[in-house]
This record gives sequence, C-alpha cells and structure tokens, in this order.
Amino acid sequence: MHQDLSTYLRKKSLNLGLRKLLIYATGILEQAVFPAKCMACGTFFHPAQRQVCSLNEKDVQYDDSFNYIERFTFKKLMSPYLCQECSNSFISVESPICLSCGIMFKSREGEDHICGECITSPKKIRRSCASGVYDKALMAMIHSLKYKGKIQLARPLGMLLFSAFMSYWDKESIDIIVPVPLHIKRFRKRGFNQSFLLVKNWVQLAKSLSINFAHIEIDKHLLLRNRWTQSQTGLGRKQRAANIKNAFSINKSSNIIEKKILLVDDVYTTGATANECAKVLLRGGAESVDVLTLARAI
Ligand SMILES: [Zn+2]
Ligand SMILES: [Zn+2]
Repeated sequence: MHQDLSTYLRKKSLNLGLRKLLIYATGILEQAVFPAKCMACGTFFHPAQRQVCSLNEKDVQYDDSFNYIERFTFKKLMSPYLCQECSNSFISVESPICLSCGIMFKSREGEDHICGECITSPKKIRRSCASGVYDKALMAMIHSLKYKGKIQLARPLGMLLFSAFMSYWDKESIDIIVPVPLHIKRFRKRGFNQSFLLVKNWVQLAKSLSINFAHIEIDKHLLLRNRWTQSQTGLGRKQRAANIKNAFSINKSSNIIEKKILLVDDVYTTGATANECAKVLLRGGAESVDVLTLARAI
C-alpha cells in the first residue's frame, strides 16, 4: 500500500515542489512504519537516508558535480540496504597497492609498486584497481546481486564503481569499456550479466554530473565467451588459469586496434579471468588493457 502511494505520487503530475514534499513525507512514514531488512546480516533497521539514496534519477539532483565522489561512498549508497554495522565493515582499496594486480599492501605506508607475485609472473594487464576489499558487506552485496537476483543493487554498486574509475583513472586514457562476458548458458540461467549492469548507466551518470564521456564506448559484445568453464570458486591460482584458458575471443565486427581498454568485472581474485581476456585483446591489436572491479580478494 505504502509503495503504491509513492508510485502514485511519482506518476501524478503534481506541482514538482509539492510532489517532492509528499514523496519525502511518505518516505519518512515508510521508514518509521516499515523498517528495512539488512541484506548482509538480516537484522531489521531504520535506514537514515533512504530518501537520499532512492537513486531514482528523477528524484536525485546532482547539484554539485565536484563532490560526487564524496557522496558516492559505500556507506551512503548502501544505506537503504545495510544496517550501520554491516556498512561499517566495508574496506576501500587504498594506496599503497600493486600497480599491476591492485592488491593492497599490508603496510599502509609508501608508494604504489609492483608486488612480488607480479614480478615473478608478469600480467598482461597494464593496471588494475578495485573499489573495496572482497569481504563481509561488499561480498554479501555482490552475492545478493549475482545469486539472489537483487538487480536493484546494480545501480548503487555501479555508482560506487564509477567513483573508483574517476578517482584512479585519467578517463582520457580509456577508449572502450568492456564488461567481462558470461557464457551464454550461464547468462540464460542468471538472466543478466552483472558486470554489464554495473556500467550500463555510466554514460547517463556522467552526463548528469557534467563529465565528458563522449569519447568512451561501452561495448558488451566486444568479447565473447565461447567455452563453458566450471566456476572458478574453490580453484587455486594455477587451476584457475588452466580452467579459463582459451575461453574468450573477440567479436569479428569490433575494431580494437590501438584501443585502450578497461575491462570491468565484479571480483578480482587471482586475475586469471582478466589476464586471459587481456591476452586475447592484446593479441587482437589493443594498445593496453586495464581492469576495474568492484571487489579485490585478499
Ligand atoms: Zn547488517
Ligand atoms: Zn601484483
């Protein structure tokens, strides 16, 4: 009933100011009467900022494009879905990190550099980075999106990823954004590719923040996953690399010659998937391949 009222108010062509006020008031009422269930721990809580983070484009005004990174924090974006305790468990990836695989060093001092593992076995990836550490709340959010079909999380998680991209990359250094594809069998079973959902709204988001994104193309058809592979979960580093070998190819109609590509995926574990994609893309003529993920396993 309360949802019906909100939807009714959104649709009804009332005076904009009055409509916003009524939506705000019903939001307060909803929060008081209907607490939310934390998606990570299952406890009930009263979201402090459900309205602010409703993420309904029509309601969110990006009034100041300079402070969006401050507002696109895990805590703020996830406030309608997580209790405070779970929200606080998020650890963002911060320097010093490995310049190649993006792992966060235990020592919190010093410059970014190449880690021992990447020196021993160099990656095809130019650089990689993630929004947060793959643990607790972030892990729960990714699982909810992928395995429980909570696709409403794709938008706030996509905003979190966007802010990581804008913080760590010079956007002029990227020509094409490519979500890591799923095999058609897995895609049909899940109904969506979570990596694509994360970047699906980026052009619109950039536009609303007055960020020039015109030179960047988002291409979900560029990479193809031809071979069915078992899940990488539970496999070791070498097994993962063997499991994913030759699983990808490039769509023949795509032009990637001398293009700078940003691969996007939900989680970076050993980098086997990203590295295999990078190998194929570089072989196909790409100039460089960078990797951005929501989470970095430690
Ligand atoms: Zn919780
Ligand atoms: Zn490394």
